[in-house]
Amino acid sequence: MSTSFEPGAPAEKGSIPLCVPEIRGNEWRYLKECLDANFVSSVGPFVDRFERDIAACVGARHAVATVNGTAALHVALLVAGVLPDDEVIVPTLTFIAPANAVRYVGAWPVLVDAEPEYGQMDLQQVERFLVQGCGSEGGKTINKATGRCVKAVIPVHVLGHPVDMDPLVEIARKFHLVVVEDATESLGARYKDRSVGHLGDIACFSFNGNKVITSGGGGMIVTDNGEWAKKAKYLTTQAKDDPVEYVHNEIGFNYRMTNIQAAVGCAQLEQLDQFVARKREMASVYASRLAGLPGVSMIGQASWAQSIFWMSTIRLDPSRARMGSRDLLAALRRENIQSRPLWRPLHLNRPYAGMAFGACPVAAAFHSEALSLPCSVGLTDRQQAIVASTVRGMLQ
Ligand SMILES: *Cc1c(COP(=O)(O)O)cnc(C)c1O
Repeated sequence: MSTSFEPGAPAEKGSIPLCVPEIRGNEWRYLKECLDANFVSSVGPFVDRFERDIAACVGARHAVATVNGTAALHVALLVAGVLPDDEVIVPTLTFIAPANAVRYVGAWPVLVDAEPEYGQMDLQQVERFLVQGCGSEGGKTINKATGRCVKAVIPVHVLGHPVDMDPLVEIARKFHLVVVEDATESLGARYKDRSVGHLGDIACFSFNGNKVITSGGGGMIVTDNGEWAKKAKYLTTQAKDDPVEYVHNEIGFNYRMTNIQAAVGCAQLEQLDQFVARKREMASVYASRLAGLPGVSMIGQASWAQSIFWMSTIRLDPSRARMGSRDLLAALRRENIQSRPLWRPLHLNRPYAGMAFGACPVAAAFHSEALSLPCSVGLTDRQQAIVASTVRGMLQ
């Protein structure tokens, strides 16, 4: 297999990659400013500006830049007070980072299934776990099977579409859980009239190369809680209590974003609205061009949601579609078109085996039936037409 099929890798001539960055704004200019001013490392005006701009974009009071989205999740859990041997509810259908972050703090994920429509966390299973699987002790929620304290829930807004947050936050409040949004795939998405990343207690973003905007690599923690933001800044910058005398009262991390990364991030953020509009347009073009194929549907958006369609993803009903998702993936690859399945559910990965609450058949079905199609912001209309007609030809 060609390495050009790695997400984020540059496309070979004539091939159509899944999702690559789009560099067409002030990226060069801001980078040059960094280099000319000799502000290349982890302090600098672009870091401050990127934090301010992301906070404003989401409508949150505070933002703290990090080296990547996984580090943001790690520190968000720490400042939210998740302790070793606590438990955190995580969807099983997600990229693995949020579950790993739970393990970094020494806590344990409790994995729940996806709902069948949009592949988001199944709130009914969350409620079943809390109501039937847990008891209350002195204002704490205790998992009856393990005796551990359930401290938080991580709704992951997968594929650019928000989780149904109002009922989730209501359940979380009832059971004293902190809500840590994993909004890494969904910057710019909206839930009802509110921004994703400002719907729980604290949220995390990623600016990895395959996300809607990129800083090369990077992440952000956003919250309205000033104490938490201060603590997050402290922990991500080696927990320095006196920078001159090197006094440290805690074990911190080197999780800082560099000014170079932030410069690219600022330039990308200026283009977010355009990028989101293009992502949404591509999804609707796929939806209309692939309409009517037997057993083929697109993952759409709920009436209360404004998805950014980070990924344009189709589902192939195994009893009706002309071919399965992996055969389609292979056939597209032969045409130099890159596609990708959704993640293997976490409970089917070795580190998280046995950690699901109940069966998770819906996540497993998404894994075997879904395929994301090329959806770079820079995908041309012509390229998209090629992808759509190739897929049509294979499935009709
Ligand atoms: C991309 C992603 C992350 C992590 O972001 P990095 O910046 O790559 O560390 C976390 N969670 C989800 C759901 C993601 O898709």
